[in-house]
Amino acid sequence: MANESLRQQLALLYQLQEHDRELLSFHQQLQIIPHRIKQLEASVTKYRDDITVKSNELAEVEKLQRSKNAELEMNEVQREKYRNEQREVTSNDAYTALENQIEFLEQKDGETEEEILELMEKSDQLKEELAALEADVVREDKKTTEKITKFRAEQKDLEAKINEKLEKRNTFLPKIDKKLTTQYRRWMERHKTDFLALGKNGTCGGCRLTIQPQNLKEAQKYEKLVYCSSCKRLLYVEPADPDIPFP
Ligand SMILES: [Zn+2]
Repeated sequence: MANESLRQQLALLYQLQEHDRELLSFHQQLQIIPHRIKQLEASVTKYRDDITVKSNELAEVEKLQRSKNAELEMNEVQREKYRNEQREVTSNDAYTALENQIEFLEQKDGETEEEILELMEKSDQLKEELAALEADVVREDKKTTEKITKFRAEQKDLEAKINEKLEKRNTFLPKIDKKLTTQYRRWMERHKTDFLALGKNGTCGGCRLTIQPQNLKEAQKYEKLVYCSSCKRLLYVEPADPDIPFP
């Protein structure tokens, strides 16, 4: 006669194993999410850093422009001073010397004006690049926010699933013999793979090898624990009677 209680124990242990496998997968999925969120945030930060670098560059160019303009203004004042002095001088030589000074300043101004033009072109170009970067960051920010929102929803969903699984697990865990759950736990810790193997069509579901006929016969009695002789997993074999539910 089949020992019904041992068969039920094996069925419950199988359920426990299935629950634990799903729980592990949920936990693994949950663990990656914060990492993914960090990666997304880092990509936006990179865009913002690019903007900061470009803005600093633009500020430098504009500062240089202002100093060049100030130079022009100073030269204008100086020239005005020379012109006033020209009105006062009495010798021709002194007048010519002042004239030379004025010409020298005008020549310098010509060079400065060219430099200012170059700086204006440079700042226009930087402003264009900055506008493009800002459009990029807005787009990236939107995309990232959407993805992060999705991840957070996924996180909540996984946490709910884990809680649900744990609750269910707790309902049948006390029904399983402590000796069995201890064996199960030890095996899982050591091997990180299934402890209970389903035996179907005379084959061990753990190692895919044929179960020895003597072992199969014993296992189908559900009187004692029977282990696969090749992979050493605990066997839960299909009952000979097709009316008995399996697994
Ligand atoms: Zn096996």
